[in-house]
Amino acid sequence: MKIIRKVMLAFLMGLFFLYGKSIPAHGAQPVVVAIDPGHGGENLGAECNGYTEKNLTMIVALAMKEELEKYEGIEVYLTREGDKDMSLEERAEFAASKNADFLFCLHFNMSAEHDLFGSEVWVSAFGEEHQEGYSFASGEMELLEEMGLYPRGIKTRLNDRGEDYYGIIRHSTARGIPSALIEHCHLDQENDTSFYTSGEGLERLGILDATAVARYYGLKSEILGVDYSGWPKVEIPVPAGAVKPDLTEPDVCMIDVGDVNTETGDIEVSVYASDYDSYLLYYSYSWDGGKNFSDLQKWEPRSADNLTFTMKAPPGTMPEVVVKVYNKYDIKTESNHVYLPSIASEKEREEESGMEAAAGDTAEEDAAGEAVEAGIMKAKNPADNGKEAGKSGKGEAPEVTFFYFLQVAFLCVAILFVLLMLAGILMRGHIPFWGCGSKKKR
Ligand SMILES: [Zn+2]
Repeated sequence: MKIIRKVMLAFLMGLFFLYGKSIPAHGAQPVVVAIDPGHGGENLGAECNGYTEKNLTMIVALAMKEELEKYEGIEVYLTREGDKDMSLEERAEFAASKNADFLFCLHFNMSAEHDLFGSEVWVSAFGEEHQEGYSFASGEMELLEEMGLYPRGIKTRLNDRGEDYYGIIRHSTARGIPSALIEHCHLDQENDTSFYTSGEGLERLGILDATAVARYYGLKSEILGVDYSGWPKVEIPVPAGAVKPDLTEPDVCMIDVGDVNTETGDIEVSVYASDYDSYLLYYSYSWDGGKNFSDLQKWEPRSADNLTFTMKAPPGTMPEVVVKVYNKYDIKTESNHVYLPSIASEKEREEESGMEAAAGDTAEEDAAGEAVEAGIMKAKNPADNGKEAGKSGKGEAPEVTFFYFLQVAFLCVAILFVLLMLAGILMRGHIPFWGCGSKKKR
């Protein structure tokens, strides 16, 4: 009997040990997290529109810490308290010295072409650090998307030696600490501007980060009145080898043109595209054979392999339509080119609208058309836009017509006036209206 009891006790203790280790939040031990406000001191990080990344990350980190400390069963540390230089290894070492369960690295992004927008999270490509990093990042990404940021994905990146590319992730993984490098949004793309340009916006990001952590560890907060215990996690297996990034361009990108309105320049384009290794994130289009492309557009839904949209070619052009699609790693593929008949020039459009104006109603429509066109030209080629805007700005025919009309009207009134005066003089021997014209009117 004693032996059976001992075996059962050992079994229960073993169970408790396993359970306690894999879900730290539920043991007596608090969850320990380290928050790393990216950059600092001489290391400014990205700079854009007068904003400096090292300051933004600190605001977010402080808000994240404050929010997390409203939860029970958690200890929170910042890798740097002030504006100081700190190497990536020192940051990971700091997290290790606190026995951290996780290191959250806060950053903001910029792209070489200033065209990318949205959020992304980088995680280790290896082992349990990948598993935990990915699982946390899934919840983080979900919240960022709910906030209105475009989800660019959870990614891994390797250096030439086949290790994690980002130092902070590499050094954390080496110390057995899962980490996530959160690139909240892009500083240099207008889609993302509103998320970081106010103190409240940055604090909102910090609270969002904290909420993702609280959910991940199933924390409770009496202060906030929330209980995330049992919050579902994205579960992925521990990878056997490195989880490699997609280094190849999208595999398929073909276009087909549907309706073409040679009057307005509206072109309906269908894209068939796919990336076998990851997925598609953006597309852009060109009417001039790829000399100029539009801003990047969201490829939505991301599971789709085809998409239809309407683009506009400027007046007087013979469009050569081509589309580019970008995958999760921003690698692009160009489609086939489709050659189209020429779009009516502005002069042709004016003649057309002149004829219709005589019938009485399209002036407004035309003005709206010009505005849309100017917008689209801006997206494609700022240099050409100037020329184009200059051209449409002159708008010769309508102004001349109006001025001409005024002249004719004035002449008619003058003739009438002279005739009336003559008639008055002849019939009554004095000048009519003289001296009382204004009184009569007011
Ligand atoms: Zn950064």
